Amino acid sequence: MKDDEIPAAAYQPWRPMSNPQDIKTLGKLAEELGECQAAAMRCLIQGIEEHEPKTGYLNRLWLEDEIADVLANIELVVARFDLDKRRMEKRYAAKMPLLHAWHTEASNPSLAELRDAAMDNWLRRTPKLALSTILDEALQLAYDAGRAASTDS
Ligand SMILES: [Mg+2]
Repeated sequence: MKDDEIPAAAYQPWRPMSNPQDIKTLGKLAEELGECQAAAMRCLIQGIEEHEPKTGYLNRLWLEDEIADVLANIELVVARFDLDKRRMEKRYAAKMPLLHAWHTEASNPSLAELRDAAMDNWLRRTPKLALSTILDEALQLAYDAGRAASTDS
C-alpha cells in the first residue's frame, strides 16, 4: 500500500456493539452513572443531610448507594473489556492531587493565587524543559498546595 492510499477499513461504517453481555455490562455502568449524577445533584440542591420528600430516604445514603453501584460496575467493565488497570491507576494518581487542590481552593482562594504565582515564576525560569517535566512539577505544586490546605483546615 502506498503512503497516500487510504486503507479499506477506513471506509467501513461504525458497527454498534452486538454482544448482549457487552451491551448489558456497558449499559448498566451508564445507567448507574446517571443515578449517581441524580443523587449528587439532589445533594447539591437540597443538602446532603436532607431527605427525599416522599420516601424520607436520606440523601447521604442515596449518594453512598449510587457511588457503590458505580464502583461495582466499573470493576465489571474493566474486567469485561480488559481495560488497562495500570494505565488507569497512573492517571488516577496524577489526577487526585490536582482535584484535591482544586477542591480545597474553594475554601482558601489565597492558596490558588499562591499556586498560580509559583507556577508562573517556575515556568518563566525554566522555559526549555520538556512538557512532561513541567507537568510533573505542576502536579507536585498542586499536591503540595492540597496538602497545605488540608493541614490548614
Ligand atoms: Mg443504582
